Amino acid sequence: MAAELIEGGPIADGIKEKARADIQALGRAPKLVGVLASDNPGAKYYAKSQEKACKEVGIEYALHELDPNSSQADLASHIAGINADDSITGVILLVPVPDGVNARQVQQAIAPDKDVEGVHPANIGKLFYGDFSLPPCTAHAVVAMLEHANVDLKGKETVVIGHSEIVGKPTVVMLLQSLMESPTVTCCHIATADLAFHTQRAEVLIVAAGKAGLVTGDMVKEGAVIIDVGINRVRVEVEGKKKTKIVGDVEFEAAREKASLITPVPGGVGLVTTAMLLRNTVECARRQA
Ligand code: NAD
Repeated sequence: MAAELIEGGPIADGIKEKARADIQALGRAPKLVGVLASDNPGAKYYAKSQEKACKEVGIEYALHELDPNSSQADLASHIAGINADDSITGVILLVPVPDGVNARQVQQAIAPDKDVEGVHPANIGKLFYGDFSLPPCTAHAVVAMLEHANVDLKGKETVVIGHSEIVGKPTVVMLLQSLMESPTVTCCHIATADLAFHTQRAEVLIVAAGKAGLVTGDMVKEGAVIIDVGINRVRVEVEGKKKTKIVGDVEFEAAREKASLITPVPGGVGLVTTAMLLRNTVECARRQA
């Protein structure tokens, strides 16, 4: 029987509804600033979609466009200005950054209470102690989707594919939050020798590698819960014409035949991640109120 879908839309709507109510309670609209030092069309598109999402819940958004040839010092001094500006409650650094600029160092210059992405070491560090007030958005989205689908994680063989600082590692840490009710978590990555060995015994499988088709149907355990974080653009032929399609890291149709629950791509984790960004933006504003 085909797996049921864990759709991102209704979960994202619930998070946005709460963000709206929290803004009402704050009595002041948060203001998020996107810092862009690039001509990259993808980054500009991402900034536009951030602006649209912010508007939906009543968050002000401004894009600060810097010279695409900005240096590390230029970006650091711009961030310092934002940190000192009380009218700005949150900031997000848009990538790519100019050649020679270390994006992580720029992100670390953001005041922890304005770090809407939850990537500052102060916020990441708190995750280790179970303080999830400002977590990285995608990891938070993954955990929220499992929670929403009432997946009992206690002692479950759970495999996370991907160990990036922004997705894989914080997901592992968040899954291990409970002393008594945590799943047994295995983290696989590019150096994992036999990926199928791990996935085939995963009762919960979270895939965040950025490789279309990485997880095939035969790699999925019967009845597994699958959260597909991957976002990949692939070229496909539809009625003789080449088209771009967004797919995850999991071969959806084949995996759906074996899983019990699965997230679609698009329409899954991505929608919840965006909602979590809004949630974090409200949390930052609350801290500064
Ligand atoms: P990344 O490139 O920083 O990390 C990729 C991770 O996957 C690494 O840990 C790497 O070791 C692992 N990996 C790569 N190839 C592998 C393989 N063949 N076998 C096993 N492990 C492998 O990427 P990221 O920023 O963590 O993002 C991962 C994916 O998630 C990308 O497709 C990205 O677009 C997507 N993403 C989605 C959302 C969302 O909201 N849905 C948010 C962030 C990232």
